[in-house]
Amino acid sequence: MSVSSHSPFADTVLLLFKHSLREQQGELARAMDKAQKEIRAIADSGPGDVVDDSRDNASKEAVFASYSQSRTQLRKVELALDRISAGEFGVCAACDGAISLKRLQALPWASKCIECQEQSEQSRIH
Ligand SMILES: [Zn+2]
Repeated sequence: MSVSSHSPFADTVLLLFKHSLREQQGELARAMDKAQKEIRAIADSGPGDVVDDSRDNASKEAVFASYSQSRTQLRKVELALDRISAGEFGVCAACDGAISLKRLQALPWASKCIECQEQSEQSRIH
């Protein structure tokens, strides 16, 4: 089965990315599951004394933060997997040029090449 289309990379490269993204997807899903259980456990523990309450709030916030971090990361991973399935992986969405392999290894969900990304960041600042 071939996954290639517009992508500048060989199928084997795409499969490697796909494999590692799937692993990350699984890990993030597990992390979210764990955080959800912790949130439920904190909610179920009910009202304690004042000292416990403040500690519970702090840990609740930490769990919520890690949950939302995992969710954000999971969206990015899914975006990268979508781009692989669509044959758009490694193709810049702005200039249609190739995104460098090095950049994709750091940010597999990058949808723009480094030049276009820098341009859009600069125009956002100014
Ligand atoms: Zn570009």
